[in-house]
Amino acid sequence: MSKHTHSFQAEVAQLLHLVTHSLYSNKEIFLRELISNASDACDKLRFEALNDAALYEDAPNLEVRVAFDTEARTITITDNGIGMSEQEAVDHLGTIAKSGTKEFMSRLTGDQKATASEQGQLIGQFGVGFYSGFIVADRITVESRRAGLPAGQGVRWTSGGAGDFEVEQIERPARGTSVILHLRDDAGDYLNAWKLKQIIGKYSDHISLPILMEKEEWKEGEKEGEPGQMVKTGEWETVNKASALWTRPKKEITAEQYQDFYKTISHDFENPLTWSHNRVEGNTEYTQLLYIPAKAPFDLWNRDKKAGVKLYVKRVFIMDDAEALMPSYLRFVKGVIDSNDLPLNVSRELLQESRDVRLIRDGSVKRVLAMLEDLAKHDRHEASTDAEGVTDVVSEEDKAKEGKYTQFYTEFGAVLKEGLGEDFANRERIAKLLRFASTSTDSASVSFADYKARMKEGQEAIYYITADTLAAAKNSPQLEVFKKKGIEVLLMTDRVDEWALNFLHDFDGTPLQSVAKGAVDLGKLQDEAEKKAAEEAAEQFKPVLARLKEALKDKAEDVRVTTRLVDSPACLVVQDGGMSMQLARLLKQAGQ
Ligand code: ADP
Ligand code: MG
Repeated sequence: MSKHTHSFQAEVAQLLHLVTHSLYSNKEIFLRELISNASDACDKLRFEALNDAALYEDAPNLEVRVAFDTEARTITITDNGIGMSEQEAVDHLGTIAKSGTKEFMSRLTGDQKATASEQGQLIGQFGVGFYSGFIVADRITVESRRAGLPAGQGVRWTSGGAGDFEVEQIERPARGTSVILHLRDDAGDYLNAWKLKQIIGKYSDHISLPILMEKEEWKEGEKEGEPGQMVKTGEWETVNKASALWTRPKKEITAEQYQDFYKTISHDFENPLTWSHNRVEGNTEYTQLLYIPAKAPFDLWNRDKKAGVKLYVKRVFIMDDAEALMPSYLRFVKGVIDSNDLPLNVSRELLQESRDVRLIRDGSVKRVLAMLEDLAKHDRHEASTDAEGVTDVVSEEDKAKEGKYTQFYTEFGAVLKEGLGEDFANRERIAKLLRFASTSTDSASVSFADYKARMKEGQEAIYYITADTLAAAKNSPQLEVFKKKGIEVLLMTDRVDEWALNFLHDFDGTPLQSVAKGAVDLGKLQDEAEKKAAEEAAEQFKPVLARLKEALKDKAEDVRVTTRLVDSPACLVVQDGGMSMQLARLLKQAGQ
């Protein structure tokens, strides 16, 4: 049997270098990552076995075993999941498959070089998967056999985490994978049952398959003066709760457990802003546990960015990133949906067509919007005393929500806006959740409702302007007359605003009007004298206008006398119903 040496893909070599040279504030995540791979491998087996029960061979009970050997200084994580063929080991352990990883790497090593401790933090946040083993090990051996292959086609993969790895064929009767970590000198603390159990409890309690460790018992020294020690008994016990968190009753789950579960499914390092856990009964039955993260991932704007919701059917994992369950504008939501009605062999294509899936999706969208509305409602608590002198008492729970909506909006507001164009059924609810800067405040904190409440007597439209930056918006000559009259104008500076606003013609019965489009009709806000002056001016300037029109005939559609300017002599506007300048520029950039 021959041994082959392979080189790592360049990115892997770079990543390994980082893993082994960064400081670790949370070394222990290696166990979370390896157990989660073991659990994924069992999920994959269960899924493939739906069509081929023979894959279970004679071991239908899926499990993960964690063992350690104090003498050999190794920790071994073994699963009886799908396993890997030789080719799969080469492909999956020698290259980076995850699309976001390259971007992540460039953040670590790019222009703004992160310090070693920042790198450690980032790695913790991101989770480097299998390679996190090298945080504690200076050599990793993986032995595996893929389900369905004969015992003679096992594989041993081994690497010291530098430039290359070796693979050879081995005899391996047991299906599945063992990952053997040869610990570094400074990682001796992990050769301890108590410590390992503690980490498993922290990260892997919710994993739905049992994680087993060998029981130990205390043995007194045999001869006089010989110290006693813990010895292995040969009996294995389950050390995690092994029940999927979302299947447990809400009352029995602590906030900390919810947060830990979030961290495991999202690889996020921070706690989520909020979550919602419900069992939905009725036409279609399902459980949803949905989280709103506190920070946007760096690949939020990546077009292929996958949705963050995992689909389970009757507690069997079916797929990650089930885009059919969450619209793209809610792609930041993380969580789990577990359906009781879908068939286990449901495919992505089938999901798109299923009526149950549509109901689940509608229900989940409503749930997310409700979570956001709740955060928005409690974002600011002004101590308010009503007419009868009764002061609002804010509950601790509500107080904890203070400022969270602002935080959410800073991170994800621009994504939420896409919903105006994507989700017609919920357009009103989404519009209520939007916040903008305006001529009266620089922070994106003005809702359409706030704006309406401040509208001037006789004002008939919600005025807004779109621009590349806040400064450009604020200094636009198109705002002059509004400033003069003290009319608030919403300042929209997100790239998506222009497109999104196309889908929103009014808010709560009040039309939205761009100040950069057509002849702004100030309606009742304009007094008679002003109107008259404008008409007179138009008359008086007729010859000038005619000459300007002639001179600009290839460049401008029309030249008009306007009341919108106060200090500037002229400004450009777009025809009513025409494409705005901002949008035109965007399209031009995109090469249209
Ligand atoms: P991810 O789990 O996000 O795909 P990892 O770096 O953790 O990334 O693992 C890389 C790949 O290696 C996995 O996608 C899988 O194909 C393979 N792999 C890792 N551990 C196992 C295992 N215990 N059993 C089978 N395949 C595994
Ligand atoms: Mg993984």
